[in-house]
Amino acid sequence: MHRHVSFIELSKSAVKTNFNFIRKKVGPDRKISAVVKANAYGHGIEAYIPIAEECGINHFAVSSCYEAEEVKSVCKPNTDIMIMGIFYRHDLPWILKNGIEIYVFNYDRLAVILEFVKEHGVPARIHIEVETGTNRTGLMADEIKKSIDFIKKHPDSFVLKGVCSHLGGAESFSNRFRLDRQIAEFDRIKSIFLKEKLVPEHFHLACSAAALAYPETLHDMVRIGVTQYGYWPSPEIYYHHLQTTGKRKDSPLKRVITWKTNIMELKTVKKGEFIGYGTAYQAFKDMKIAVLPLGYGNGYSRSLSNKGFVLISGRKAPIVGLVNMNLFMVDVTHLKDIKTNDEVVLIGKQKNNKITVSSFSNSSQQINNEMLARLPAAIPRIISK
Ligand SMILES: *Cc1c(COP(=O)(O)O)cnc(C)c1O
Repeated sequence: MHRHVSFIELSKSAVKTNFNFIRKKVGPDRKISAVVKANAYGHGIEAYIPIAEECGINHFAVSSCYEAEEVKSVCKPNTDIMIMGIFYRHDLPWILKNGIEIYVFNYDRLAVILEFVKEHGVPARIHIEVETGTNRTGLMADEIKKSIDFIKKHPDSFVLKGVCSHLGGAESFSNRFRLDRQIAEFDRIKSIFLKEKLVPEHFHLACSAAALAYPETLHDMVRIGVTQYGYWPSPEIYYHHLQTTGKRKDSPLKRVITWKTNIMELKTVKKGEFIGYGTAYQAFKDMKIAVLPLGYGNGYSRSLSNKGFVLISGRKAPIVGLVNMNLFMVDVTHLKDIKTNDEVVLIGKQKNNKITVSSFSNSSQQINNEMLARLPAAIPRIISK
């Protein structure tokens, strides 16, 4: 097999640590749906799903039929998959045949689904998504009663797996007034379903931040995204955790990803010379630089030009000049005994130093999620213990 110019290592023990922590926070009886949209937040669906399954996860949430199919191709036969986003008419036969769970986010979808259920003779496993104030997707208040009636009228056609909603910004306490209204609205809608005796398998509302900071949002199931990969949804949620534990420092979450490459070439540059394209960097002394075999074409952000760092021999090496499409250079004048092919860490730990996704993304003005989600699917994922 031909080699890629970089690779991503996934730490199995980190995933285990993270799920143990989440499990402790949400209690032993609540279902955890692992959100693996955007290629498992860049970790790689194919490699990640079996690791999560080893941690006892048997429910995965994605945002498209395409992603559902990716999960299906690597998961265990009895693992459940839930599409939280759009699906198209022509996807429905596959969805029904494979027992994929789907969000019903408006009343009209019910009739469309029913049409296919009749044709294929298998019931649809649905989650009724209700609007509580995020104003994104979900049944409006006036569609709830008629949806309940519709489902009740066709009891053999629908399996009500869930009733759910999504909060608009649970990672920031400044949204508290809005969340309180949403939490109350969800409770109100929940009581309608209970009163109508249309009881889903799970009521679910919480994402990572809500699951960690708002116990009243836990209901029967939580949809955990970013936390399973070892990231706090926000600094606020981390400080909230510290407050509840009374500790001044705690690191119950472990980063799962390390992104690595190797030194392609080492060379010396004379004082006054420019490095790479244009005049972006001029050597202010005689320098030694390392050339790395990747660039923005491989997902390494161009906005880190002249700003970012990598790790070599456990020490920081600053980027000099522009990140090119398939190469960039770092200053290694201060590093002795390094040679071509030496390991370079782009994100993650090396010896006692680390490059965090957030440091990476603060300097490139992205949030963790965006940086992770942009990691190209083509980078090979390797599982480490
Ligand atoms: C992405 C997503 C989640 C997971 O969010 P995290 O903050 O990463 O835990 C949960 N629910 C829905 C509907 C989502 O789109």
